[in-house]
Amino acid sequence: MSADCIFCKIVNGTIPSKKIYEDDDVIAFNDINPSAKVHFLIVPKVHIDSLATCEPQHQSLLGKMLLLAPKLANEQGLAGFKTLINTGVDGGQEVFHIHLHVLGGGIKLPKA
Ligand code: 5GP
Ligand code: ZN
Repeated sequence: MSADCIFCKIVNGTIPSKKIYEDDDVIAFNDINPSAKVHFLIVPKVHIDSLATCEPQHQSLLGKMLLLAPKLANEQGLAGFKTLINTGVDGGQEVFHIHLHVLGGGIKLPKA
């Protein structure tokens, strides 16, 4: 838990969100400013700043986040989807609590 972190506040319920999934390790909720018809974020409950600060101990957590993407995308009615992890200011990261974007349906994003 990081006191000033928006996503830690969503994890602990201080800030409301449109939650689509939760277990002991992760939460998933709709992005407040969606870039596609379906746009949700898969977020670990533990505070990790970014992909760049992940360590070997986070390997299974990262795998869990990735494996959840197709499951939740399917539940949201998507036949296909795009995943994205912005890392660092130069990588376009705005919220420094690692999260996996899942987007589908009318996405307007670059191919890669
Ligand atoms: P980043 O640029 O860090 O990869 O993405 C941060 C994402 O979090 C953005 O797409 C932004 O719309 C979303 N976001 C920022 N604040 C909130 C919030 O309070 N609630 C929700 N649901 N999404 C947020
Ligand atoms: Zn946090």
